[in-house]
This record gives sequence, structure tokens and C-alpha cells, in this order.
Amino acid sequence: MEKAYKFRIYPNKTQEELIQKTFGCTRYVYNYYLAMRKEKYESDKATFNYYACSSDLTSHKKVKDWLREVDATALQSSLNDLDIAYQNFFRRVKSGGKPGYPRFKSKRDNRKSFKSKAVGSNIRLFDKYVRLPKLGNIKCRVSKQIEGRIISANVSQNPSGKYFVSVLCTDVDIQPMERAGAIVGVDLGLKELAITSDNQHFANPKHFNKSQKKLAKLQRRLSRKSKGSNNREKARIKVARLHEHIANQRLDNAHKVTTSLVRDYDLIAMETLMPKNMVKNHRLAKAVGDAAWGEIARQLEYKCNWYGKELVKVDRFYPSSQTCNSCGYKNSDTKNLAVREWGCPKCGTHHDRDVNAAKNILDEGLRILSVA
Ligand SMILES: [Zn+2]
Repeated sequence: MEKAYKFRIYPNKTQEELIQKTFGCTRYVYNYYLAMRKEKYESDKATFNYYACSSDLTSHKKVKDWLREVDATALQSSLNDLDIAYQNFFRRVKSGGKPGYPRFKSKRDNRKSFKSKAVGSNIRLFDKYVRLPKLGNIKCRVSKQIEGRIISANVSQNPSGKYFVSVLCTDVDIQPMERAGAIVGVDLGLKELAITSDNQHFANPKHFNKSQKKLAKLQRRLSRKSKGSNNREKARIKVARLHEHIANQRLDNAHKVTTSLVRDYDLIAMETLMPKNMVKNHRLAKAVGDAAWGEIARQLEYKCNWYGKELVKVDRFYPSSQTCNSCGYKNSDTKNLAVREWGCPKCGTHHDRDVNAAKNILDEGLRILSVA
């Protein structure tokens, strides 16, 4: 099994400079080869693939010798990321979706990271340090023991300026959880984060809502500071920190929900993620982001895999909230999100909107499994 362990790191001045340089070099490599692939494709419809890029990089490093100051595997990973972006692009073209050509990485992007691959013992974790290629031993808050074999390390800096390393390990021995003897359908919602087919409710803490006033105040302050000033930078960091605080709370809550579901049930049926048109609505988009559905889906996926449980995804377009779970009658009145409870006109069963939806999701999940 694979598992990632994320720790905060505290690079010294020299290390910090080299980390920043590596961010710059990996971005340069990404953009340089994106431009090259684009040009080759546009001029003679030729594909300049990963291997072509990789061998070109070897000679390019002789010209731009500053590229040799940073970890070579980080540059390779950047080419790999570019290749994945292309593969996704081609997949979208094939499936007839909106292609969305791979985009250049901007210097102003606040999400900075690079990935070093483990070769021999170039990446190692000690009690209070992490060893990374070219960077040496960096002070690190190792909050838990890692298991398995290290395959890579992702170094990142968040918008408020903190540095982290995420160490990816393989061959991690994870014990499957005991059988719970129960199966469940899960309806993800806004009013409540998740409702199960057996009527378990997970509240949506709405961290973002609570912090919104504070955030608005900080953002107003930020907008009043003159561009490029020290005070503006301080204000920007305050905003970034609050964003990070909210994101951490959201993440913790998602972990609580998913761990509880994986512990209580052996099979979990849930809907695939939100329709795009729903997120076009600005206010709803904010609420959806706050609910962290995507994060919940991601965690359920890997936790089910870790602990020997089963996850079934049900197509969004399955009308789970409109169908009576007892008799199958389709009640289009429930399209209106304000309808929280309803009585089935055909069989008379009284339904809680979300529990009924969750039951339908479970049934649909079981049907998918039976035909698979
Ligand atoms: Zn009915």
C-alpha cells in the first residue's frame, strides 16, 4: 500500500534559496518544453513526447548550466507532470469534451512545489531532519513514524510562506479493518455534509461561513495597503493564514466523516462529484467548496482501499432524490431543493428527502455491482 506523510520543514537561509531556485527551475523546464511541444505540434503535427523532452533536457542543461544546481530528479518530475497534462488533454479531445490545452505555469502562482524521486538513499527521514537531494539535512517536525520504503518527496511552500515535505512511501503494511456487517448509501449535501441511508447525519460545520466576516475584514485591510509595500505583504500573509486555517479545519472534518464511514460500513455507495452547472452559481460554488465533497470522495477512495472496504460510485444523473425508495414512483416535485420531506402519492410512504436519496444511491450501487 502507498501512503504519504506530510511534515513541516524549516530550511535555513541557504536551503531556502535553493528550494526557491528549484521551484523556478522546475517551472522553467515545464514551460520551456510546453512551448516546444506546442510549436512542434502546430508546425508539423508531430508529438514531442516525454522521452524526446527528457533527452533534449540533458543537452539543454549544458547550455543553461544553472539547471544543474538543482536536483535532476525534480526536473524529470516536472517533465512527467507536463506529460500527464498532455495525456489528460488528449483524453479530453478523444472523448469530445472541452479540450483545454495545457497551460503555462505562472511565477505568481502561490502554490509552489517540486518532487524529488528516491534514488538509493538520497531521501531519508531522521528524528528531527529530512535528507533531500542537493539540499542535505533540513530541520523537520517529524510528527509520526513512517513505514515502508520511500519513493519520492514533495517539497511545497504554501501562500503564507510555510514549507512542507510530503514523503510518499510504498509497501506500507496497513491492516484491514474488521468487518462492520453493514452497507450504506451516502448522500452528500449542503445543509448537512452527508446523510446516510440508515439516517446518520454528518453536520456541515461551515467553517468558511464563520470565518467569512473576519476574512472580509482582512481583505479590506489588504486592499487599502499600497502595492509593493511591506505592510501589504504582512496583510497578504494574514489573509493567506486565515485561508489555510479554514482549509485545515475542513480537512480535519472530512477525515472525521470518512474514517467514521469506513469504520462503520463494509460497502459505501456514493454519488460521483457535483455537476459543473451547479458550481457555476457563485454562492452555491462557495458552499460546495466549503463542504469539501471532492476531498471526502478522495479520502473515501484511498481509505476503502487501505482498509479492505468497498466503494461504489453512482452516476450523478441518477435521479436519487426524485424516486420513491419504497415503490419506485418518480416525484418531480422534489426537484425543488426546498422540499425537505415528502409523502409518496403512490404508496404513501413518508420520506426525508436526503435519507430517501441515500437509500436510492445504495440500491443503485448494489445494482451496479450485480451487473459488473
Ligand atoms: Zn412510493
